[in-house]
Amino acid sequence: MKKLVVITGASSGFGMAMAKQFAADGYPLLLLARRVEKMEEMNLPNTMCRKVDVTDAKAFELAVSEAEAVYGKTDLLVNNAGVMLLGSIEEQDPMEWKKMLDVNVLGVMNGMKIVMNDMKERKSGTIINVSSIAGVQPFGNHAAYCASKYGVTGLTAVARGEMSAHNVRVLSVNPGAVATELLGHTTDPNIIDAYNDWKESVGAVNITADDVATTIKFAYELPQAVSLRQIIITDTMQDA
Ligand code: NDP
Repeated sequence: MKKLVVITGASSGFGMAMAKQFAADGYPLLLLARRVEKMEEMNLPNTMCRKVDVTDAKAFELAVSEAEAVYGKTDLLVNNAGVMLLGSIEEQDPMEWKKMLDVNVLGVMNGMKIVMNDMKERKSGTIINVSSIAGVQPFGNHAAYCASKYGVTGLTAVARGEMSAHNVRVLSVNPGAVATELLGHTTDPNIIDAYNDWKESVGAVNITADDVATTIKFAYELPQAVSLRQIIITDTMQDA
C-alpha cells in the first residue's frame, strides 16, 4: 500500500478534491475537518475521517496517531484548512482577525509540529502548506487574511530551510481565486459583492479546485529530491 496522506480541511473545496484524487490513486488517507459527515459521505477506500478543529493540537495529534497505527507514518501532510473573512482593519471585528490567525497560521503549525520530528528521523516526508496569492501580494479588504497567509508563506520558507538537511520537503502552494465555499464565510455582504465584481472584471475564474488538487498531487509525486518550494497558481485570466 502507498504511504499515508493527511489532509486538513477535506470537507469542501481543495481538500475534498485532493481527497478524491489521492484515494483514486490508492493512497490511504486521514481526512480532518469539523464537518465529518461531508468527508464520510465521499465513502473513500482506506480512509479515516475525523472531526478535528486544527486549532485543537491535542485532537489533531490523536487523530494522526490513530491513523498512523493503521496505515503507517505520515508521508504527506497537506495543511489546507483555512478561513477567509474579508474586511478592513478599521471596520472588521477583531474576533475575525483572531480566528484567521488561529486557524490559518497556528492550525498549520500544529500540524507541522505533529509530523516533523518523525519525518526528520526517517529522512523523508513532505509538508505542503496551502497559503494564498494573498500570502505574497496585497489585496484590498484582505489585511488580516493577508497577515495570516503571509505568515504561512514565511513560516513555510523557514521550515523548508530547516528541514532541507533532513531530506524533508516543505512547500507552499499559493492559489489565486478559485470558486469554493471560502468566500461564503465573509460576513460583510458588500465585500462579497465587491469580490464577485472583481472576479467578473478580470474575465472569468475557470480554474477549479480539481486543478489545484492535481497540482498539489503532482508536486508531491515528484521524486523526494525535487522540491517545488513555492507554487503560485491562478486562473490565466486573473490579472493581479
Ligand atoms: P473551503 O471553504 O471550501 O474549505 C475550507 C476547508 O477548511 C473546509 O473543509 C473546512 O471544513 C476547513 N476548516 C475551516 N476551519 C477549520 C478548522 N478550524 N479546523 C479544521 N478544518 C477547518 O475553502 P477552499 O477549499 O477554497 O480553501 C482551502 C484553503 O485554500 C484555505 O486555506 C484557503 O485560505 C486557501 N485558498 C483558497 C483560495 C480560493 O480562492 N478558494 C485562494 C487561495 C487560498 P469545516 O468547516 O468542515 O471544518
